[in-house]
Amino acid sequence: MELKLSNIKLNNPSQQALLVKNLYLSCDPYMRGRMRDFHGSYIPPFVPSKVLEGFGVSKVIVSDNPNFKAGDLISGFTGWEEYSIITKTDQLRKIEPDDHIPLSFHLGLLGMPGFTAYAGFYEVCSPSSGEYVFVSAASGAVGQLVGQLAKLHGCYVVGSAGSKEKVELLKNKLGFDEAFNYKEELDLDAALKRYFPQGIDIYFDNVGGDMLDAALLNMKIHGRIAVCGMISQQSISDPKGIRNLSSLIYKRIRMQGFLQSDYLHLYPKFLEEVSAYYKQGKIVYFEDMNEGLESAPAAFVGLFTGKNVGKQVICVSHE
Ligand code: NDP
Repeated sequence: MELKLSNIKLNNPSQQALLVKNLYLSCDPYMRGRMRDFHGSYIPPFVPSKVLEGFGVSKVIVSDNPNFKAGDLISGFTGWEEYSIITKTDQLRKIEPDDHIPLSFHLGLLGMPGFTAYAGFYEVCSPSSGEYVFVSAASGAVGQLVGQLAKLHGCYVVGSAGSKEKVELLKNKLGFDEAFNYKEELDLDAALKRYFPQGIDIYFDNVGGDMLDAALLNMKIHGRIAVCGMISQQSISDPKGIRNLSSLIYKRIRMQGFLQSDYLHLYPKFLEEVSAYYKQGKIVYFEDMNEGLESAPAAFVGLFTGKNVGKQVICVSHE
């Protein structure tokens, strides 16, 4: 099958297109936002009847592009399908194969979510050693790395997650100082007061909603909130208002939304540092791998109920 594919001629050489075989596809919460058309989004909505687009790790089969050759491994936007023709090649990244790093990690630890953790923590949170850091959705693709970077930076780190299994993972495998299951807490404000009697210096917010409201009440003066994501608000049509925003003023808190794409100039530094941390055993990374393209829709929906433990990836083909 592949032998025949490699003989394919792509229609329009001037497009500099690639025919790729998709190996791993990434399920990411931001894709939910592309399923509705709303004004002001940073990325266009999906087009009904067109193949879904998302981050993937792929192998080049045929190349009309001088920057890539057959056999190259790449990561970047591809289709949720077995084979794709990619014409937007300028943001593709060539992967240098490394026996010590799983290929699929280029969708998580060394991909967009890992980079989000890195840029968000170092650039938006302005961390100092000894500070108190709170991370929500802490066992997920972004959160697990935020917590570990904060620990390496000398911070005290508490994470929240939605199951006992995830809380155990945070405390026993990911090195968080403390973790709690927010679904078992009737009063999030009281829970945060229990874990941060001295207050929170940095809140890395992946969820928004009630947790953000409770965190606002527990921030220290001059605390910082990195607003990374609001997954708790993503699927509801009438988001609940945040009641405690006035804390921003009383406590002179800096609250900043960000997109990882604002910091792409840091990507090479990130790759070098985080790959080294991983190889030195200073950080670990958990994936939730589902087999087969047909498993992708359920895996994607599972992000919004917390079914995934770690970075949600779909293996379409092992090679
Ligand atoms: P995750 O791997 O963390 O998966 C999503 C997790 O969110 C679920 O496992 C679940 O964990 C939690 N969750 C789902 N629904 C809710 C809810 N209603 N309330 C609270 N928690 C919920 O995803 P990522 O790490 O990839 O993404 C985390 C956040 O970061 C998202 O909000 C995403 O949109 C954002 N993001 C932002 C980027 C940026 O550039 N600003 C880039 C990448 C991601 P649990 O079981 O713990 O509830």
